[in-house]
Amino acid sequence: MQRQDARKPLVVGNWKMNGTLGANEPLLAALRAGLDAALLTGVEVAVLPPYPYLAQVSAWLGETPLSWGAQDVAAYAEGAYTGEVSAAMLRDLGCRWVTVGHSERRALLGETSEQVAVKIEQALKAGLQPIACVGETLADREQGLTESVIAAQLAPLARLACVGMPGQLVLAYEPVWAIGTGRTASPEQAQAVHAFIRAALSAAGFDGAALRILYGGSVKAASAPALFAMPDINGGLIGGASLVADEFIAICRSAASA
Ligand code: PEP
Repeated sequence: MQRQDARKPLVVGNWKMNGTLGANEPLLAALRAGLDAALLTGVEVAVLPPYPYLAQVSAWLGETPLSWGAQDVAAYAEGAYTGEVSAAMLRDLGCRWVTVGHSERRALLGETSEQVAVKIEQALKAGLQPIACVGETLADREQGLTESVIAAQLAPLARLACVGMPGQLVLAYEPVWAIGTGRTASPEQAQAVHAFIRAALSAAGFDGAALRILYGGSVKAASAPALFAMPDINGGLIGGASLVADEFIAICRSAASA
């Protein structure tokens, strides 16, 4: 498949449950200084802090081309859902993005693909761009089940309103065995799954050419260039390395020059 130039690469830093007001400041200052306008003509960059730090991130990045978002969103619009945070609240805080269905939430909190689809709908209604995460476990891969597991995770997305909204939905392929393990999928392994995801969503009615599919799983500055050179990899969802400014900026540079 040819690289689609209309798909500007996107690099998203998932801070997970890390940070403090004090520790975030030097990181945000370094991102603001290191991700200059010239670099950002070639790549979109966003960070996803924990909810309590969204206001801090918006204060630091508000006047820059960098964007931000959240790591999850409620499946409900508003009301008696103690502890939940709605998509409209995230928009209020200037969020542009939200990840849904991260494998840590699927594994630790039992989040299902049906719930993920409902969260995507809530996000879209509020004007957020959802980043839907899919990926197989090591056992799935070893049993040759990678494609069937991912097809099942994608299935509920076919009925979403965003089928007809090119560019609104972003996918992230994150093999569970590569997240936080230091073990990255090879560029060829990742490319094969990205091509599968693009074909599956195109068959479901999505505009495959406009779909950005990010790779996530122990991406580092050293592994990023070969991953981003693959035709169906349109950027990265970066966990651990997004907390280290130099590393994250180097990953963004790789995406910009891919
Ligand atoms: C993630 O949390 O989405 C992720 C990819 O983490 P890491 O880069 O640390 O593997």
